[in-house]
Amino acid sequence: MKISFLGATEMVTGSCYLLTTDKHKILIDCGLFQGDSDSDDLNRNQFDFDPASIDFLLLTHSHIDHSGRIPLLVKRGFKGKILSTKATFELCSIMLPDSGYIQEMDVEWINRKRIRAGKTLIQPLYTLDDAEKSLKYFQVINYDEIIKLTDEIEVRFKDAGHVLGSAIIELWIKEKDKKIKIVFSGDLGNKDIPIMKNPSIVDEADYLIMEATYGNKVHGSIENTLLFLLDIIIHTVENGGNIVIPSFAVGRTQEILYMLNMLKESEYSKIKDIPVFVDSPLAINATNIFKSNEDLFDDETKELIRKGDNPFEFPNLIFTKTAEESKAINFHEGSCIIVSASGMCEAGRIRHHLKHNLWRGNSCVVFVGYQAKGTLGRRILDGEKKVKIFGEDIYVNCKIYNLNVLSGHADQKGLLEWFSAIKKKPVKVFLTHGEEDALLSFSKLLKENFNIEVEIASMGETVEIESVEESISIIAEKPSITHKADLNVIYDIESILNSIRETLINNSVLNDINKAKLLLEKMEDIRSQLKNLDNFIKNA
Ligand SMILES: [Zn+2]
Repeated sequence: MKISFLGATEMVTGSCYLLTTDKHKILIDCGLFQGDSDSDDLNRNQFDFDPASIDFLLLTHSHIDHSGRIPLLVKRGFKGKILSTKATFELCSIMLPDSGYIQEMDVEWINRKRIRAGKTLIQPLYTLDDAEKSLKYFQVINYDEIIKLTDEIEVRFKDAGHVLGSAIIELWIKEKDKKIKIVFSGDLGNKDIPIMKNPSIVDEADYLIMEATYGNKVHGSIENTLLFLLDIIIHTVENGGNIVIPSFAVGRTQEILYMLNMLKESEYSKIKDIPVFVDSPLAINATNIFKSNEDLFDDETKELIRKGDNPFEFPNLIFTKTAEESKAINFHEGSCIIVSASGMCEAGRIRHHLKHNLWRGNSCVVFVGYQAKGTLGRRILDGEKKVKIFGEDIYVNCKIYNLNVLSGHADQKGLLEWFSAIKKKPVKVFLTHGEEDALLSFSKLLKENFNIEVEIASMGETVEIESVEESISIIAEKPSITHKADLNVIYDIESILNSIRETLINNSVLNDINKAKLLLEKMEDIRSQLKNLDNFIKNA
């Protein structure tokens, strides 16, 4: 059996893996490439396989970097079955047509320019209609049930805690009378994030394909982040500016609403009257799908709803559906909070709000999710002082904040914990879905702590997978964790440092920025001394 890595290799978008057994071809995810300048080419290229030859597509979750090329796959001849959870299907039913619509609009805009330049016209990657047609290939399955796909292949989806309906996929494949278990982690959730349950534990794997988006970072605490967000809102409102939150329509927007609901319901009545606009038709539809899938929420959220406090409903929460309502936000008197998509600012209404607020010294932009290389969001976050929006140069003068603790992805500690919980460890781990630093750092950590083979998957690579009985017994004889105690100490100190850092930043919003800067430098000093200490312990 072979596995081919056809996306999300040394990057975070375009997830797509192909399993080829002696009888079948199975695709895991078929996502859009986003951000980089060559994304468009990568999306338009021929697939590395004949779409008509694929028997099953197993979809980990609805996010467009995992599902966004499904309509193209169908358009190019796929006739198999697409298996996903019910919530993933429901979310795809709104996200894929939305993506088709965006493709059509983008091409229309490009073609208008091409006509003026005397160039030939281009076709959209796929249309809204293509996207709708692709939905009829979906077949919905339940979490935690082993499904027999063929005589040789069984599959189970487990809650990955990343977004509504997200799954870790376990596959058992029989070949030449031997069974091999391959696990695809999908995107693994962040334990601290509201609404979603914690990622499920997997008991065993022969081979593991694992994401490592934050393989080199430890998120700060959610409580501090909430206070930080509150400070940002209060400070911005005092200055008469707007708070613009670029947010993924599906998942992150609902989590932000949960947090704003918490802040508004708490004693911090200062922000009770500030209007919150959710300006994204997709986010509005997604919120309705969340509301109808309460059974998938974590216990805290279920309890909140049981007590009568729906996190998606609070005073002054305004959902703006039409373009007119969206435009009217720009003429809103007084400060407001605008939550709009797309999360990486590449498309959608958020670009209008950035255009109207980036140049204003009293407004702010709060990033709450991963910003892929090359996206408008990443460029703003990286400190570019001038960006182009709708062909116009916009000066970046407002304050920029990054609350990446709100990420839907596990951080380094979360990833390591999830891997540690696998009782029978895989003989080999392929790391995907991360940028180079994250992959290298997490690969090193896995090798050091578990003494297993780790490979950073590269684009287009195909690897032969063999039965692993012997190797597993060798692994079992070795201690699985060697530096766990040391690591925990380092993590604790790291999280203390993060808390101090956030508190300092909090204060710097209101008080003496120079003093805070000095303290931050001092802390970086402590951090590097800690690193030395960590190395010293490990080498001792
Ligand atoms: Zn995702």
